[in-house]
Amino acid sequence: MIILKSQEEIEKIRRACRIVAESLEALKGYIKPGMTTKELDRFVEENILARGGRAAFKGYRNFPATLCVSINDEVVHGIPSEKVVKEGDIVGLDLGAIYDGFYGDAAVTVAVGEIRNETSRLLKVTEGSLYAGIAQGKVGGRLSDISHAVQSYVEAEGFSVVTDFVGHGIGRSLHEEPQVPNFGPPGRGPRLCEGMVLAIEPMVNAGKPHVRVLADRWTAVTVDGSLSAHFEHTIAITKEGPIILSRL
Ligand code: MG
Repeated sequence: MIILKSQEEIEKIRRACRIVAESLEALKGYIKPGMTTKELDRFVEENILARGGRAAFKGYRNFPATLCVSINDEVVHGIPSEKVVKEGDIVGLDLGAIYDGFYGDAAVTVAVGEIRNETSRLLKVTEGSLYAGIAQGKVGGRLSDISHAVQSYVEAEGFSVVTDFVGHGIGRSLHEEPQVPNFGPPGRGPRLCEGMVLAIEPMVNAGKPHVRVLADRWTAVTVDGSLSAHFEHTIAITKEGPIILSRL
């Protein structure tokens, strides 16, 4: 069942999202070559707490940390560790917060120092596909219009979308119905209506779409070793069009 949110509930989700967005922005300014991913996790957790929120991922299905941090060929769900970020890496930063009983969720992929042009194109295309998906978040449309927009955008640029993981509804739970795939034909699935709140999150590989999960049971990596990027926003569907709740 898709739980529709009132204006008041959307405002609460917006506050959780704001904590996420501000903490990610702070983290973007903090991350430097030589830091461990655990240091990034500690920094962002302090940021969430300082803003009156709680970490949403910590303890979720026993995930041990606040931040999912996924480097280069890691797609999503990387666990913070003693691993060091290096000049030329791309680092996916996925963060969730709880505020007043409501969840917010967002992700960005950042470049550490200088990266190759083709890598920077991967980041641009992945973020662009997120906005292409968001643009389809219109009352009266269908859920898979979002999915189709993401996939077409990515594939027109010669990259591939990951199909093993999908976006989701969000509210009083981190993951609610509906699932929001980043692929598929348009015009399918539930009709989009006012009060739906969705986390849209394309994961895009430079090479083939296939991924596998490492022995830590969390970290997903590309099977072919190609680079992968991930961007995510939490949005509300309104009569006036989609509103991005997790943008500063
Ligand atoms: Mg999410």
